[in-house]
Amino acid sequence: MVSAGVELVEVSDGVFARLHEGLTNAGIIVGDEGVMIIDSLRVPSFARALIEDVRKITSKPIKYVIDTHSHWDHSLGNEEFPDATIIGHQNCRAEMLDIEAQELWMNKIVTSKESWSEEARTVTITPPAMTFNSKLSMYFGGRVIELRYFGRAHTSGDIFIFLPEDKLVFTGDVAQDSGVPFMMDGYMEDWVETGRLLCELPVDRFISGHGPVGGHEALVEAKDFINELVSTTKECIGNGQSNHEAVEVILKKLSNRFGHWRGFDRVEDSIEFTFRQILQNGG
Ligand SMILES: [Zn+2]
Repeated sequence: MVSAGVELVEVSDGVFARLHEGLTNAGIIVGDEGVMIIDSLRVPSFARALIEDVRKITSKPIKYVIDTHSHWDHSLGNEEFPDATIIGHQNCRAEMLDIEAQELWMNKIVTSKESWSEEARTVTITPPAMTFNSKLSMYFGGRVIELRYFGRAHTSGDIFIFLPEDKLVFTGDVAQDSGVPFMMDGYMEDWVETGRLLCELPVDRFISGHGPVGGHEALVEAKDFINELVSTTKECIGNGQSNHEAVEVILKKLSNRFGHWRGFDRVEDSIEFTFRQILQNGG
């Protein structure tokens, strides 16, 4: 039995999506001599549960941990992998070493009264030891695994783990199947272009940081959501509308196509944030 609330889906030979209901997903890729993990999860006990699930699949050592981005729920388990090489984008490393930003997040987490809040205080932030800028090709267990960076989006350092032979990509939090992403650390205008490039990868399916495994059409929808949000925001700014007026217009427009998505009921703050950011960038 895997951990409670967890589903392990073998999406390709030796490639597993570890889907965690309502929480954060991880990836497990089994090679000839070792294992690669995608995202170490929110606190050490979550990482240890992930390792236990890996042990149900294979006894091979965990050699690599890839951080899709710096956010706590994806990377605060890194310290549980002292024998693995932790890899991420150079901006992901910089964000994890940004003491001010980390303190803001840590405050949010330890005061959230969740079951992991207390444990979060004990975390030693462990940033990637190996970084890259635009692309890193790894030859792992008979397959090529391409780590790709297309620019800023959900954070400044989101990477995609692309398995060309399997037509699969791990997208972190840049794209979900029918779920509104967290945007408050985002670079909304850059996200449009990053999403476009992500959709050009020749894949059939993607594994997101949250929610189910999606098909290519869901990847396109995720891109369209950000595009529509940004373009409508720009229109509202062009029309001289206030933030308050714009939120209503944007909400109405987005709800036609995306109203049924997970998290749509909490999208207002993100729309306000997007408005302020684009206005600040000169509209
Ligand atoms: Zn995130």
